[in-house]
Amino acid sequence: MDLRAEIITIGNELISGVQIDTNGSFLAERLQSRGIPVQRLVSVGDDASSVAQALRESMKRTEVILVTGGLGPTSDDITTEAAARFLGRTLQLYQEALKHIKNLMCSLGVEMTDAQKKQAYIPEGAELIPNPIGSAYGYLIKEANRLLFFLPGVPREMEAMVEGTIFPRLEKERKGRLHYRARTLMVFGITESRADELLKDLPPQHEDVQISFLPHFPEIEIRITVHSSSSQEADEKLLYWEKETGKRLDPYIFGVDGKTMEEVVGKLLREANATIAVAESCTGGLIGHRLTNVPGSSDYVDQIVVTYSNKAKVDLLNVPEDIITAHGAVSEPTAQFMAQGVKNLAGTTIGLSTTGIAGPGGGSPDKPVGTVFISLTDGNETWTKSYHFSGDRLQIKQLTSQVALNRVRKYLLQKI
Ligand code: ATP
Ligand code: MG
Repeated sequence: MDLRAEIITIGNELISGVQIDTNGSFLAERLQSRGIPVQRLVSVGDDASSVAQALRESMKRTEVILVTGGLGPTSDDITTEAAARFLGRTLQLYQEALKHIKNLMCSLGVEMTDAQKKQAYIPEGAELIPNPIGSAYGYLIKEANRLLFFLPGVPREMEAMVEGTIFPRLEKERKGRLHYRARTLMVFGITESRADELLKDLPPQHEDVQISFLPHFPEIEIRITVHSSSSQEADEKLLYWEKETGKRLDPYIFGVDGKTMEEVVGKLLREANATIAVAESCTGGLIGHRLTNVPGSSDYVDQIVVTYSNKAKVDLLNVPEDIITAHGAVSEPTAQFMAQGVKNLAGTTIGLSTTGIAGPGGGSPDKPVGTVFISLTDGNETWTKSYHFSGDRLQIKQLTSQVALNRVRKYLLQKI
């Protein structure tokens, strides 16, 4: 049987905008990546008629319904009562669920309250879904060939129950087991529409292959999901589609599966036995922040110098004052002297520098906002390039840090 799903998240905090619906996005992502399409994702408040209406509508359309929230002990948690009334089932005291709450309270050294006991009253005929973390059990109700899963709202509890119980249960409902594989290609330096164009001539994809674009400024994640009834075929399919996609986007792929640019650069620096020092102006320390976010970065990061003023560039990096006077702080020669200055100061393999105009003020006709110079030196050769980025102040800083790190990546790839 092919399964499709809808998700209903319940909570006044969700529809008032106080809390973002992360449960919905978590469930949707997990279902999609297992090849179970999500047709609809709705949030409703903690009131019985809204819950009943959402259940009624979803049951008309789909086979699997996942509901989160409102299973707790407080009086605003009404999901279970609303569902029982809507389905015409009475609430029963489930001994296993009761024991679980008692044990949990006992381990915390407190008595179970009547309100907590309420959580063990579950619609008759439900299958319990254990909660390994919190007090509220979830449950599954089968009604009119529909599978209705009820889960607590606390994200950590809900997530643990999904992996432990719900997916194995959904696999059982399908004929035969399907094997899923996914790979995310991390892409930078190309627009989404250009990437789409480059992928135009991919062989036709059937429904067992999905390729989707997830832009995360300034990067694009390209997610490949495949499924097959055989584990080996799933592996082969993923390899094939990763290769085909990778071939077309090759110069822009810097990593896979959520790897960050700074992790990739760190790994390459380590492999090349190289060290780095950075002189930052317009990025204000962002490159240093990113490089040092990677555990173990002290093995290759020597120093980060933030030289924001002209004086700092002269005093700390020995950039000649007349160079700044003649060409400006945002110029090719200044960037070059900064990279060389910080490399000399630190005695590292690589010196990297940034200087630019992040805006919104400070631009001029020949150097508009977004003008940035990035320089890299290894002592023998120095590469300096000018860029014209667009975006707000923060985006220009992010882009500059990303391009500078990507420059280091490309340099190291040639050396290794
Ligand atoms: P509990 O047993 O803790 O009372 P519950 O099932 O009643 O669980 P809720 O009271 O609805 O859950 O929510 C508990 C917490 O989880 C709240 O902090 C709430 O903001 C958060 N939460 C609930 N639903 C969502 C959601 N869809 N996305 C993100 N957070 C959520
Ligand atoms: Mg709630």
